[in-house]
Amino acid sequence: MVKIQWVLLGFPRILRINVQTKWTRFKIALNTLFYNDFMSWGYACDIMMEPICWFVENFTAVLGPILVIMVSTLSVAIVYIAYYIGLPYWWEKSPLSTILLLLVGNWLLINVCFHYYMGVNVPAGYPPQGGLIPEAVSICKKCIKPKPPRTHHCSICNRCVLKMDHHCPWLNNCVGHNNHRHFFQYMAFTVTGIVFIMIFGVEIAYKDFFIDQDIELDGHPVRINNSEIIHMTESMDHLNSSELAAIAQKAVETREKEWRRRMILFAALICVATFAALGALSWWHAGLITRGETSIEARINSTESAKYKALNREYCNPYDFGPRRNWIIFLGLEGRSWRHVLFPSTHAPRGNGLTWETVDHRFPY
Ligand SMILES: [Zn+2]
Ligand SMILES: [Zn+2]
Repeated sequence: MVKIQWVLLGFPRILRINVQTKWTRFKIALNTLFYNDFMSWGYACDIMMEPICWFVENFTAVLGPILVIMVSTLSVAIVYIAYYIGLPYWWEKSPLSTILLLLVGNWLLINVCFHYYMGVNVPAGYPPQGGLIPEAVSICKKCIKPKPPRTHHCSICNRCVLKMDHHCPWLNNCVGHNNHRHFFQYMAFTVTGIVFIMIFGVEIAYKDFFIDQDIELDGHPVRINNSEIIHMTESMDHLNSSELAAIAQKAVETREKEWRRRMILFAALICVATFAALGALSWWHAGLITRGETSIEARINSTESAKYKALNREYCNPYDFGPRRNWIIFLGLEGRSWRHVLFPSTHAPRGNGLTWETVDHRFPY
């Protein structure tokens, strides 16, 4: 006798196993087609970033001069507003305080201009063309030349840069061994200058926007410079010439006040935006300098630290000599006074950028 066994109840399970098997086979087949032993998320992200990198590489060089002109123009505008609005206000309050403010403000301004000029014009430092490189750690795949320690290839400048930090479009220059100090000091002095303007400008802005009442014309007609007419009404017909002149004067004052407010608002926006952006960037770079690393090395060091941690070991940055010494080396203050940092100074950085002392190998200076 034939025994009929109903398998309908087990059908969903069979179907699921069947689909899972087919899906696994499909994934294996697909992975086999695209298998790459070097494939990783980092590699995949690099590939996806290629179009953005292409854009940055090709357009940063074009944008650079425009950004330099923009930074210079904005700086001139802020200084003009500070002098046009701030100086008369503080002079009226206290001439002695104003002289002090002028001294501090101009000291900051001179430093900002000097370090920006140096950041833009001092070359970052490059390995000698065809010359002897005393110590090479790798070969640059783009230049096909040996790379000294801490040197990286800049795809925008299309050359290797000594102790490269990054390519700065705002300076239209690479930041490296020779101009790293100027880049940082420009940021530090600019942020300090902005804080200075904000501290001594907030009172003026508050007074202009919240205390002073608007000069109202009460809808009266006024002719200014024989060309411009404001609010004509019949009630002005009986006014004499001196009354009309007073109203005209009020109209001019109102216009000036409007411009003054626009300038204050413009300065406030630029100062707040620059303070937020440059303040954060300066803070981050100050941390890097304290740890004795560049922006590029920060990424390398963090990858190395993770690798060492996985092996239960601790990674040590070979260029980290402790916060105090790192700052002294960065600012080039060995054998020099603080005057070289507080005032414009063209002193060269320590070393030639081709060889570097490390925590394990100190140079006999
Ligand atoms: Zn290179
Ligand atoms: Zn560059």
